[in-house]
Amino acid sequence: MFEEGNRLKMEHGADEVFDFSLGNPDLDPPQPFLDRLRELTHSPPEGLHRYMPNAGWPEVRQKIAQHLERRTRIPYRGENLLMTVGAGGALNVLFKALLDPGDEVIVFAPYFVEYGFYVENHQGRLVVVETRDDFSLDAERLADAITSRTKAVVVNSPNNPSGVVYSAAEYEAIAAVLEEQEQPIYLVTDEPYRKIVYEGYDCPEVPPFYDNTVLITSHSKDLGLAGERIGYLAVSPRADDAEELLAACTFTNRTLGFVNAPSLFQLAAADCQDLTVDIAMYAERREILLNHLLELGFDVVAPGGAFYLFPKSPIPDETEFVRDCMRERVLVVPGRGFGRPGHFRVSYAVPTENIERSLPAWERIAHQYAGGNRAS
Ligand code: PLP
Repeated sequence: MFEEGNRLKMEHGADEVFDFSLGNPDLDPPQPFLDRLRELTHSPPEGLHRYMPNAGWPEVRQKIAQHLERRTRIPYRGENLLMTVGAGGALNVLFKALLDPGDEVIVFAPYFVEYGFYVENHQGRLVVVETRDDFSLDAERLADAITSRTKAVVVNSPNNPSGVVYSAAEYEAIAAVLEEQEQPIYLVTDEPYRKIVYEGYDCPEVPPFYDNTVLITSHSKDLGLAGERIGYLAVSPRADDAEELLAACTFTNRTLGFVNAPSLFQLAAADCQDLTVDIAMYAERREILLNHLLELGFDVVAPGGAFYLFPKSPIPDETEFVRDCMRERVLVVPGRGFGRPGHFRVSYAVPTENIERSLPAWERIAHQYAGGNRAS
């Protein structure tokens, strides 16, 4: 896809290729964050560039714990947090700490494709549970998928690739299933898109629903810092073995070679927990593209957050549909890459002008499939 995108851009010019295939946030970090960064580089605290405790700067962990306590009303303390190299780093650190060979991690389809690789990195087995047609969580299907080897269940809301946000009722049902189990199962809430939620949608905090919750996030999307690799992992203070699990994760953070999360960005992010990129920009793009696709007859669940749409492909084989889109120089990703064939992902982390210029191409694509029959 990436190669083909580059080829099309060379042939037609970058402005004439509508690349909705990448989840690479294009909005700049908020100005107060950049100001804080400048301040830190102009007057660096002593030891800024040296090794530090592997879990991260104590004052950073404490500030973020206070932020989490305000949000969740659970008494997080600095000792419950590990600063990590993004959410990707945090997930690897956690799976390395939790999994013995053959242990299972359950995810709900559609899901962020890297989960499978991360679990395999640590000899675990990914178990995929389908969501309903509207991508909501089905606790009964979860119950059926749990075995004596299940160590963790991952939820991701707002979701990549569907953009849906899960409800309190869904978390209650999931928590009830997990609480019935004989062995402790960790609920991992991977939430790098938590702060990108649209008006009219509510994205409930997960830790209050279930004690054995590990919250993972990063500032890749909410502060537009994907290249800086900064995030954290927080074990609920109410979790079984909370202290031991955090200690294990701190050790695996070191032995996986991360050692510690980037120092400068820990300090800069700690003071910017209530800031976000300009979400109004994402809201505007969502509106334009969602309305256009709905008007053209696409079957698409309105996303409550993140910057993705995950419509149904007009034909069962979405890879064929994706190839047809490419002929119109529209690049999207087949749903099977996210464990849900028959759909395709559209990322609207793309400049608004580009989205507007793509609208006629979407019309041509829709007309090919008008009436349910693809005109050859
Ligand atoms: N989890 C989800 C659902 C994602 O979409 C991503 C990135 O796209 C990540 C985790 C990893 O993010 P990062 O490692 O940049 O923090």
